[in-house]
Amino acid sequence: MHNAQVSSDRAMTPAGGRTPAPWGLGDGQAIPWEYAPAPEARDVVRLKERYGLFIDGREREASDGGTFVSIDPSTEEPLAAISKATPADMDRAVRAAVRAGRRSWGSLPGRERAKYLFRIARILQERSREFAVLETMDSGKPIKESRDVDIPLAAAHFWYYAGWADKLEYAFPGRVARPLGVAAQIIPWNFPLLMLAWKIAPALAAGNTVVLKPASTTPLSALLFADVCRQADLPPGVVNIVPGPGDVGMALVMHKDVAKVAFTGSTEIGKRIQKAVAGTDKVLTLELGGKAANIVFEDAALDQAVEGIVNGIYFNQGEVCCAGSRLLVQESVADDLVGRLKDRLSTLRVGDPLDKNTDVGAINSKAQLERITELVASGQAEGAELFQPACDLPERGYYFRPTLFTNVAQSHRIAKEEIFGPVLSVLTFRTPDEAIEKANNTAYGLSAGIWTEKASKVFAMVQALKAGVIWANTFNRFDPTSPFGGYKESGFGREGGMHGLHAYVRLEDR
Ligand code: NDP
Repeated sequence: MHNAQVSSDRAMTPAGGRTPAPWGLGDGQAIPWEYAPAPEARDVVRLKERYGLFIDGREREASDGGTFVSIDPSTEEPLAAISKATPADMDRAVRAAVRAGRRSWGSLPGRERAKYLFRIARILQERSREFAVLETMDSGKPIKESRDVDIPLAAAHFWYYAGWADKLEYAFPGRVARPLGVAAQIIPWNFPLLMLAWKIAPALAAGNTVVLKPASTTPLSALLFADVCRQADLPPGVVNIVPGPGDVGMALVMHKDVAKVAFTGSTEIGKRIQKAVAGTDKVLTLELGGKAANIVFEDAALDQAVEGIVNGIYFNQGEVCCAGSRLLVQESVADDLVGRLKDRLSTLRVGDPLDKNTDVGAINSKAQLERITELVASGQAEGAELFQPACDLPERGYYFRPTLFTNVAQSHRIAKEEIFGPVLSVLTFRTPDEAIEKANNTAYGLSAGIWTEKASKVFAMVQALKAGVIWANTFNRFDPTSPFGGYKESGFGREGGMHGLHAYVRLEDR
């Protein structure tokens, strides 16, 4: 009944002599019972057949009438046609944002800007179910994640930055914080509404106006957000949402009236943007890829660590820049931990993202699925050993089984490149120094995790790890008050917290 499975090392060599899991699973075995389907209703979302660009408070067609289609990656069915912006549309959006800054937003007292942000936060909460279902339909992420993580956190960012809007003088004591002007914001497809909130909330709190380009595979929650802006009576032009392809994103970045560029996406495009703005006075923040090490010491609580590892790499199908994609485990507990991890993987439910039981939903696009498939094939070709639990995958849609590789060498592509999929590479270490060396042996520097009972070990590791965010005995925890960002090829600048506000102001002496 189950699709083809790949043999695992445990089948041949029982992991450290461990007894089988209490529910009787062996390697590659599926859980022996079925959950009743628990589908979330689709009809809380009223999909339009066609969405325009949101410029100057109004919905408009693209200047050349062009459109593209956004599809549901869980079924490959089209969801809606979206106007595809041209460089002329980007120009129109930037000019609207300039006017809005001059006319209203730039000179509005902070306490008035705060009221709009509070209003947006409240509307997001009121419409959270609609946003969660739409986000899941457009992106493929499980409904339990969009419902419990993406949408609540997006609202929380607006609440948080609403609180700062009238307190800039306390955020930057002794200085006068001035808005930069028009912010060009380009966001990816892995957390569409959340990335929008990370970018728009601090920009507006600081008095900037915004032109935002969503990713072409996930434009719908940003376009629904345009409706929230209208509902909140936000002055026209303060927020403009302009979907379009990458080269139109570059036209936005290069527009002469754009003062600030905030980009989240691949390192490759981040580098291109950095080159493009070099020599201009545009302020730039880049939040790019990652290849985080999740480090488990022998004194860690292993069952807790297993949950953290699963959350670290299979949350959002592993399409997370800070995903814990490299597991570094101390050799003395490696067999035990990997055995527990395989058992846990066998309980993950892969399938319809709108089903409330689903743990791993659909991969965002065909292109991304192909990239994951290619990198996993490279792992096998280079000699790593693959384990995947048995599970049926839906016949249509872009799905990939949760995957774990053992026997991984640091030189393997799966240990070096960002896979952006549900694929974990397991490496081992003997001493803390070896763990540090391996963890830092990457071009990236976004995040890391440490699992140990010893706080002293945590503090020593934190000093030595070159990563912007380090979690101890947990993973993938986000909070609007906490800055997030990377080193090296993971980019620069911070989003979240007061640091996130700093990225949107020019500080002058009193
Ligand atoms: P991209 O970096 O291409 O996309 C991110 C955003 O940038 C999208 O809005 C995209 O638009 C836009 N964009 C694309 N080209 C340009 C350009 N020349 N100038 C300005 N903006 C541009 O990521 P991909 O979607 O291609 O994903 C490829 C890989 O990147 C993934 O496999 C993953 O490894 C990594 N990635 C990392 C992310 C992170 O959060 N760090 C997020 C997404 C991807 P459009 O959608 O229209 O192409």
